[in-house]
Amino acid sequence: MRKFPRKYIFVVGGVMSGVGKGVASSSIGKILQFHNLNVTAVKIDPYVNVDAGTMNPTEHGEAFILDDGHECDQDMGNYERFLNKSLRRSNYMTTGSIYLKVIQKERSLGYGGRCVDVVPDVPFAVIEQIKEAGRRENADIVMVEIGGTLGEYQNILFLEAGRMLRDQHPEDVLFVMVSYLPIPSKIGEMKTKPTQYAVRTMRQTGVSPDIILGRSPREMDDKRKEKLSVACSLPKKAIISAPDVKSIYDVPGNFMTEGLDRLIIEKLKIPGTRFSAKKSDQWDTFVRSSKPHNKEVRVAVVGKYFDTGDFVLTDAYISVIEALKFSAYKNGVDIDINWFNSKKLEGKGAKDIAVLKEFDGIVVPGGFGSSGIEGKINAIRYAREQGIPFLGLCYGMQLASIEYARNVCGIAGATSYELDPDAKDKVITIMPAQEKLLRDGNYGGSMRLGAYPAVVREGTLAHKIYGTTEISERHRHRYELNPEYGNVLEENGLVISATSPDGVLAEIIELPDHPFFLATQFHPEMKARPLDPHPIFTEFLRVASE
Ligand code: GLN
Repeated sequence: MRKFPRKYIFVVGGVMSGVGKGVASSSIGKILQFHNLNVTAVKIDPYVNVDAGTMNPTEHGEAFILDDGHECDQDMGNYERFLNKSLRRSNYMTTGSIYLKVIQKERSLGYGGRCVDVVPDVPFAVIEQIKEAGRRENADIVMVEIGGTLGEYQNILFLEAGRMLRDQHPEDVLFVMVSYLPIPSKIGEMKTKPTQYAVRTMRQTGVSPDIILGRSPREMDDKRKEKLSVACSLPKKAIISAPDVKSIYDVPGNFMTEGLDRLIIEKLKIPGTRFSAKKSDQWDTFVRSSKPHNKEVRVAVVGKYFDTGDFVLTDAYISVIEALKFSAYKNGVDIDINWFNSKKLEGKGAKDIAVLKEFDGIVVPGGFGSSGIEGKINAIRYAREQGIPFLGLCYGMQLASIEYARNVCGIAGATSYELDPDAKDKVITIMPAQEKLLRDGNYGGSMRLGAYPAVVREGTLAHKIYGTTEISERHRHRYELNPEYGNVLEENGLVISATSPDGVLAEIIELPDHPFFLATQFHPEMKARPLDPHPIFTEFLRVASE
């Protein structure tokens, strides 16, 4: 039996997007965990895509993979990292996934032959999934982040779901609005009016915020808090200052200073909470470990999903970045991550490969398709030949195998099925189950996805890193190291140090006579957490920083 009814905290965005709703929401979850509350999170994305797996990473950022194989928005990675727990399919929804559920239910006569309406049936389906996510974990608190900004057409059904859920459980639902308070440079004063308008817009949906988180370049002063308090009918203590911070991991600490934890517990009337100094200290220790050190490790990430117009975005590699940070802090060093567009390290650019010389380590992350792959292969060859620590992730492992086949085993035409299905030497080939899926144009959610067990070979670097022979890691791929060529690579000195339990799929490859040369078919970055850095990244950076 539960001691008190499950509570739901909706987080919505006012004024504009990109002000850190996801981080705010994860941080609220974190500070409630300090009170020994069991917190889970639901992320709602208003787009029609059923999941994030089919979207271009340059535009949409990384697709984050859950243990159960669901391909989600990168924000789900934030939730897992802050809350230090693995989430599932029910923790994520989009307009597309909800409509799909409703339509499938209708097709199977799940509505008993009645007319199915957009309202209330779609919001009901939203509520059902939110409740399911809470139930599955017996959560005390379900954080529900509604993507997009108030006033947008596309998230209105989700706000409607929030309103209806509040009607069902008036005592147990809270609305937090994450807003933005600009300081126009010509005026030099923090302005509250856009937030006031956002609150008015929100009221049109039938709910108003219980708490306003005011994101801004600087601390919000008392005068502004008073203004918002009067204009938005909220007590002053419900107006929380959330200024820009150096690191997103500083946000929970700031919220604690503002008393947001106590405020939420009070507003939701949660009885008998116990503050856990241990949990809060653990987090503080991590945050302190991220402060400047006197040693720095310089890492080059050779990828390709950076260029959008005049801007360089690194969102496609967010989990890799965070995994590197956590492990650097664990090793007590700072990390300087440098981005290299692999398309510039091939063709005419190949002669510039020595730019990589000044780095302590090289990472080649995951990817798809043919563009930029020769540049990545050049980078891998450089790391191998120059003895620079190298970490390959997914496509990075496949390309490392191709590089080895070409330049060590003398198989000049070595390539991947993904690049040339008719090639003779497909060192990387398609997994048997995948062939038909592609023939049928069945791309969405159909890769080898999610956590699978693997067996690590004793006496290898991988075994030294994990300290065990049995591991489980998250995957997202269609292609694999061709078993026929695996033998050739091994005869020439490469070691396959982990495989699927049946021995068929290569999961980790490594080179014995190299300071650190290891590549994984899976994505270890998806399981790296602030409080639990991934051992592969930690060992890679330990060697790199020496
Ligand atoms: N494109 C490769 C595959 O599908 C690698 C995928 C990845 O890097 N995530 O197998």
